[in-house]
Amino acid sequence: MKIDESTEARDTYMSEIESLEKQIDSSGWLVCSSKFSKVFSPNFDDRPDNLEPTIVVIHNISLPLGNFGGKNVENLFLNKLDTSRSEFRKLNSLKVSSHFFVKRTGHIVQFVSTYKRAWHAGNSSFMGITSCNDFSIGIELEGSDFVSFEEKQYQSLFFLCQALAKKFPLLSAITSHEFIAPKRKTDPGPFFDWKSLERNLRVLSICWKIFHKKN
Ligand SMILES: [Zn+2]
Repeated sequence: MKIDESTEARDTYMSEIESLEKQIDSSGWLVCSSKFSKVFSPNFDDRPDNLEPTIVVIHNISLPLGNFGGKNVENLFLNKLDTSRSEFRKLNSLKVSSHFFVKRTGHIVQFVSTYKRAWHAGNSSFMGITSCNDFSIGIELEGSDFVSFEEKQYQSLFFLCQALAKKFPLLSAITSHEFIAPKRKTDPGPFFDWKSLERNLRVLSICWKIFHKKN
């Protein structure tokens, strides 16, 4: 009986590991399911020397600030935001996109292949190395510096961390936009739960170092 149970547990464990390995396909895209969707942003190019990503950068975004739902963020990443609206005028001609956007519902939208360089970090530096877009994966959480994130967003973030850790063994750190661009940026802000991230990475046996400005 015990043997059967342990065999079953091992098989379940192995199939979970295998399914995680298959969550991101050979082109660098999440395999479609009801939890994810794909939208193709033009705001990317090749990583120099085909660098493999080594860090994950967490952001927050909402347009207008503090307004959740709707299509404004998606439209920004597609260069389709109506910048004639006064609150968006300063975003005119901005060309940006993260790899992933996690909505308040936990739904994940992918905009750029993980093999490509998404334009999410801007002027930035990590451990003395500049231009973090070259070697990072960008994850935007729908939110702001002023409210807590949803539990479903954390669950989706932890899922992404697992899938990315399996796909890119050179990933070794996770950090904030604020940490890599401290004079310009404050996201994901004081409400992001770094302790929960640390706990969950440990539970998932993901050995990434966490770098963020202590609040
Ligand atoms: Zn940011």
